[in-house]
Amino acid sequence: MTSKTVTVIGAGPVGALLALTLARRGFQVELFERRPDMRRHQVSAGRSINLAVSTRGLHALNKSGLDAEVLRRAVPMLGRMIHPLQGELQLQRYGRDDSEFINSMSRGELNELLMTKAEETSRVRIHFNQRLFDYSFEHARATLHDEETGAVRAVPAPIIFGTDGSASALRTALVDQAATQVTQTFLDSGYKELTIPSGTQQLFQLEPHALHLWPRGNFMLIALPNLDGSFTCTLFLAFEGEVSFERLGEAAAVESFFARWFPDALPLIPNLASAFLEAPLGRMVTVKVAPWSHGSALLLGDAAHAIVPFFGQGMNAGFEDCTVLDALLLNDAPDWPGVFADFAERRKPDCDAIADLAIENYLEMRDQVADPRFLLHKAVEAELQKRYPGEYLSRYQLVTFTRVPYRLALEAGKVQAELLDELTEGFTTAEQVDYPRARGLVAERLGPLLRPSR
Ligand code: FAD
Repeated sequence: MTSKTVTVIGAGPVGALLALTLARRGFQVELFERRPDMRRHQVSAGRSINLAVSTRGLHALNKSGLDAEVLRRAVPMLGRMIHPLQGELQLQRYGRDDSEFINSMSRGELNELLMTKAEETSRVRIHFNQRLFDYSFEHARATLHDEETGAVRAVPAPIIFGTDGSASALRTALVDQAATQVTQTFLDSGYKELTIPSGTQQLFQLEPHALHLWPRGNFMLIALPNLDGSFTCTLFLAFEGEVSFERLGEAAAVESFFARWFPDALPLIPNLASAFLEAPLGRMVTVKVAPWSHGSALLLGDAAHAIVPFFGQGMNAGFEDCTVLDALLLNDAPDWPGVFADFAERRKPDCDAIADLAIENYLEMRDQVADPRFLLHKAVEAELQKRYPGEYLSRYQLVTFTRVPYRLALEAGKVQAELLDELTEGFTTAEQVDYPRARGLVAERLGPLLRPSR
C-alpha cells in the first residue's frame, strides 16, 4: 500500500468507472466487490436489465475513451413508441430530430467492459467475493467478509469510496459513526422483467429504434431493444390493490391480465405465465443522504443518491459523479477531506433534483402520455423547436441531451410547464398558438436561467 492507494467498495458500473477515472489520475485502486466475477460466472443481478445511456453518461465514458465502444454495443432509441389500448402506434420523439436519441445497452455487458478496461490500466485490482462488512473511521480500516470461504479480514483503507449501491454498507458506517442521515422512500409499485425474443433471423419483432411504452393509468409496460433482436420488457405495477402484483399469483390471472391490457405484447412473450411467475419482483427506492462524506470517505452513485428508474438517469448521474470528481482532482496529492466535502456540496443539489424529476417522469409516463393536454404541450414544444432551432429545449432534452445541471433542468421544467399552460389556454391545437409571442416569452423567462450553463 502506497500513499497513492485508494479503496473502492462495489464494482458496479459506477465503481468500475470510478476506478478507471482514479487510475487515469495515477492512483492505485483496490476495488472490492461482493459478487463473483460476472465475466466468468453467471451472476443474477444486472444481466437482463438494459438501460438507457445518454449524454451525461457518454461524456464520462468519453473521458476514459470508451464512448464509441459503448455506442457500438447499444441500440439507438429515437423516442417513445406509444401502444394505446385502441388505435394506432404513435412515436413521440425524444429530441428535435434523428440526431437526438438515447442508447439501450445491457447493464451487465457495460459493467463487464468497464471492469476489463479498469484492470487493463494495471493500476486497478478487483477483489471479487469480498463484501464490505464494516468500516472503522477511528482505525481507517475496512472489514471484509469473503463470500466464498466465510473468512473475515481487516484491511487498511485510509481513503475510501463507497459505490456499493442503494443498500450501501459504507453508508451504514457513515450513519453509525458520523453525522450522516438517510431517507429512503419506496414506491408502492414494483417491477418484473420479461423477454420478447428476436424473431426469425434475429429480426426485431417491434420497431427497434424506440422505447416501447404501454401506458395504462397507474401501471405500464415498457420494452427496450437489445442488439440481438430481443427486447427486455418491464412491467411496473402496484404491489397491492385492485390491479396489482398480488392479484397475479396464478397463470390464468397473468394471461388474462396481459390479454386485457397488453394484447399486442401477449403473443410476443413465449411462456408468459411461467416466465412472469418465476421473475423476481423488484422494488424501487429514492435514497437521499446528507452528508455524503466524512473525513476521507465518500459515497457516489446509487450509494449516495439512488433514484427511481423513470428518467433513465440513475447510472448516467453516477457516471456524471465521476466527471465532477475528476475535475476536482487537480494534483496527485489531493486534500481528500476537502475534495470530498467540496464534491458533495456541489453535487448533492443536482442529485436531489434528478430524484424529483424521476418521480415526475414516472407520473408522466404512467398517466399523462395519452392525455390531450399533455399531447398539446408536446406539439407546441415540437413547433417551437422547428420554428426556432436551438432556442427552446424541453425538460427532457435538458436532462437527457445536455449536461446542464439537473437542478436547472428541474427549474426550467417548472417555468416551461407554466409557459405552455399560458400559451395554450383556451386552445385545442398547436396551430392556434401565437409563436412570435411564445418566442419572446421563452427568451425572457428561460434565457436567464439557462444561459450561464449552455
Ligand atoms: P449498483 O449497480 O447497485 O452496483 C453496486 C455494486 O456494489 C454491485 O456490484 C454490488 O454487488 C456491490 N456491492 C453491494 N454491496 C457491497 C458490499 N457491502 N461490499 C462490496 N460490494 C458491494 N439508470 C440509467 O442511467 N438509465 C436507465 O435506463 C436505467 N434503467 C433502470 C431500470 C431499472 C429497472 C432499474 C432498477 C435501474 C435502472 N437504472 C438506470 C439505474 C441504474 O441501474 C443504477 O443507477 C446503477 O446501476 C447504479 O450503479 P452503481 O454502481 O452506483 O450501483
